[in-house]
Amino acid sequence: MAILCLLHQAYGKKLIGAIREGLPDEDIREWPEAGNPDDIEICMIFRMSPGFLAPYKNLKLISATGAGVDHYLLDPEFPRHLPLVRVVDESFAARMADYVLSWVMFHHRDIAHYLDAQKRREWAFKVMRPASEVTIGVMGLGQMGALTAKRLASLGYDVRGWARTPHEIDGVECFAGEAGFGSFLTKTEILINLLPLTPETRGILSSGTFDRMPKGGVLISAGRGGHMVEADIIAALNDGQLRAATIDAFQKEPVPQDHPFWDTSGLYVTPHCSSTASLETIVDSFAGNVRRFRAGEPLLNIVDYAQGY
Ligand code: NDP
Repeated sequence: MAILCLLHQAYGKKLIGAIREGLPDEDIREWPEAGNPDDIEICMIFRMSPGFLAPYKNLKLISATGAGVDHYLLDPEFPRHLPLVRVVDESFAARMADYVLSWVMFHHRDIAHYLDAQKRREWAFKVMRPASEVTIGVMGLGQMGALTAKRLASLGYDVRGWARTPHEIDGVECFAGEAGFGSFLTKTEILINLLPLTPETRGILSSGTFDRMPKGGVLISAGRGGHMVEADIIAALNDGQLRAATIDAFQKEPVPQDHPFWDTSGLYVTPHCSSTASLETIVDSFAGNVRRFRAGEPLLNIVDYAQGY
């Protein structure tokens, strides 16, 4: 029985080569050369069109190539009776933490102000605030959010986190569920979004959320485009409820040339680059689960369909 891979083109032939090396005893096929669909027992998929998996009647395991799984679960034909596993790895989370830390410092130390001042040849000294006076709220305390929150706390920021269920993280004040959301937001001046996209979190980056933060806050979102009510983000930036926003993932990617985000003052667009798993991470995570599957052992990092992540 064979494994079918449909991978991100950015990896070229490197990823399929690495998967073949990592699983030398497996029959690994790269889409569209699937051969007889009845041979396919395991699929590793980056992105797929609805119904993509329908021909594979003997499929038993599906693997994502990254952390987010929302796009699979949007497919009404996705075979939810089969296990879906995703990539979880500390180095993957560390890359995300680097991205968030870079932008936190950019906003905290007001680097945009100095860049603008230099353009005007202006010596524009600003009094700085110590990190301990800056409250950062991290939404999502999974593999990405927990490490990011810990690293921010280790730099001396006042860090709080919010998740669906209660968490305990050294140096981070944690809040949970709907009931804890308001308290989480009241002091949060830099809001970090590292949530998965689910029916509960869709549209969470809205004026209803920003209005509960102190005026002049900052948003850093590396979650999904579906988390945003785009018009509310633009309105919050225009009326000063937010003073800046850095956004990495969008409803439509690449962001269309005529999209207002490109020209909104205080808004920084990055091209879905906040974190990608390394080839080694993807291969280790996938090969580990394939070996467990072959040995009849419990799989790791299984998506909970009921929760949607
Ligand atoms: P995890 O599944 O490990 O963690 C998800 C976290 O979100 C958990 O802490 C979970 O709470 C919390 N959560 C889920 N639903 C809710 C809710 N309704 N209310 C409050 N908290 C909630 O995910 P990862 O950390 O691996 O990834 C998070 C997301 O980051 C991905 O889904 C993806 O969207 C994004 N991402 C973006 C990348 C990029 O390049 N832009 C790269 C990688 C990830 P609990 O702990 O209680 O279960």
